[in-house]
Amino acid sequence: MTELSEQAVLDAVPDGLLIGGDWRPAGSGRTLEVADPATGAVIKTVADAGVEDGAAALDAAVAAGPAWARTPPRERGELLRRAFEAVQQHREEIALLMTLEMGKPLAESRAEVTYGAEFLRWFSEEAVRISGRYGSNGEGTGRMIVSHHPVGPCYLITPWNFPLAMATRKIAPALAAGCTSVVKPADLTPLTTLFFAQLLVDVGLPAGVVNVVTTSTAGEVSGPVIADPRLRKLSFTGSTAVGKRLLQQAAGGVLRTSMELGGNAPFLVFDDADLDVAVDAAMLAKFRNVGQACTAANRFLVHERVAGEFTERVTERVRSLPLGRGTEKGVQVGPLINAAAVGKAGALVHDAVDRGAEVVLGGQAVERPGSFYEATVVTGVRRGSDILSQEIFGPVLSISTFADEAEGVRLANDTEYGLVSYVFTSDLARGLRMIDQLETGMMGLNVGVVSNAGAPFGGVKQSGVGREGGIEGIGEYLSTKYTLTPDPYA
Ligand code: NAP
Repeated sequence: MTELSEQAVLDAVPDGLLIGGDWRPAGSGRTLEVADPATGAVIKTVADAGVEDGAAALDAAVAAGPAWARTPPRERGELLRRAFEAVQQHREEIALLMTLEMGKPLAESRAEVTYGAEFLRWFSEEAVRISGRYGSNGEGTGRMIVSHHPVGPCYLITPWNFPLAMATRKIAPALAAGCTSVVKPADLTPLTTLFFAQLLVDVGLPAGVVNVVTTSTAGEVSGPVIADPRLRKLSFTGSTAVGKRLLQQAAGGVLRTSMELGGNAPFLVFDDADLDVAVDAAMLAKFRNVGQACTAANRFLVHERVAGEFTERVTERVRSLPLGRGTEKGVQVGPLINAAAVGKAGALVHDAVDRGAEVVLGGQAVERPGSFYEATVVTGVRRGSDILSQEIFGPVLSISTFADEAEGVRLANDTEYGLVSYVFTSDLARGLRMIDQLETGMMGLNVGVVSNAGAPFGGVKQSGVGREGGIEGIGEYLSTKYTLTPDPYA
């Protein structure tokens, strides 16, 4: 891509707040800067919403609510289908935009466009499948009707690491269910959401049905929105720490909540695993998104009999990963989101080494503009190391060993997180035992990526509540009503 086309894509991004169908500047006139993490250069300036803008966005969502809830499901589905087509049409621009604001290699941005668009298609198909139940009560004295209704205005907060997919994973089911919303993307990566919102407008989104506020003061703007009694639902994807704070705030209005929070995925390699499969999967599970994924394999737990060979083979693969700006051809390790992320990866590696681990490859920040950290392999990581309890969110592959199945399971579950686990074994019975025993909401059995629009994505323990995607995903935006009426023959 040339300089010019990057600029053209950036110029096509609206720089205002989408409120009630209009793009407008922040009430205060303030703006916030968005930087390219590969260079540190500011690439775009967008509106910086204040409290009054958040309130206006919620007003618009509330005003648009009843008409959208009454819009036939087929029409809601068709809007989503048109949005899916529009994303396909603009896939290269969206991919480039994501790489520019977030840093991931272009090939991965393209993969995210595919993944993110699938939520639009999936929920376009689910909109017409909202059904209920009808039947006699046990006593035969009445008829019971169970119906599902849009929960009402929603506040959707998304993180920076998957700028398109985290937005469509919330917006699509909300639209399908008949809910209006206010969307608040992360201030580090608001551009993809703004561009996508314009596509929604282009394909016929009615005014106020989706509103977007970008802000550098997330807490200040969100507090009053969450406290407003007209809001009925909060859906958040982000860190467990912020999620806990938001749950407390949501308790005030007893809001429906969906929380997609942090992870600390174990990647278990048993001694009967096909190591070709395990090594391929390790590369995906660790280095996708430069390690900045809630689903990233955080702890490689390898049976001691195969640990040497696994380490050797995976290290060879990691050694060959090209590092650079995500727009450059063939790059597989882009920048981390900012300097703090580089600092965190470095601190976790240092701590692991201080406690006895060995750096086999990498282990340093890269001296160049932007925020880069070398693709790194650390072995012999000891219990108690911070890297085993905190999200690394960087290209650092950390290996520890276990001696038998029971120890593997114990180590895997030794975390307050429970998003996803990865298991590599050629013993089906062992795989099935792992489904029972691993305390995670999702599991990859001999695969390194599990995300799919048709599957219920979500965690247990402190990785969250609720599910996004799958037939479960739309239920998060519906409330259930039970009606009893007398037996019509009585
Ligand atoms: P974060 O710091 O928790 O931020 C997430 C979102 O919350 C951003 O939009 C942020 O806005 C906003 N926010 C921060 N403080 C807030 C407050 N007091 N009130 C309202 N909103 C607030 O997380 P992140 O660093 O962006 O994302 C990385 C985290 O997300 C990791 O922990 C990762 O595991 C998790 N994640 C989970 C999933 C999942 O599905 N389980 C998926 C992806 C990521 P600003 O950024 O503008 O401050």
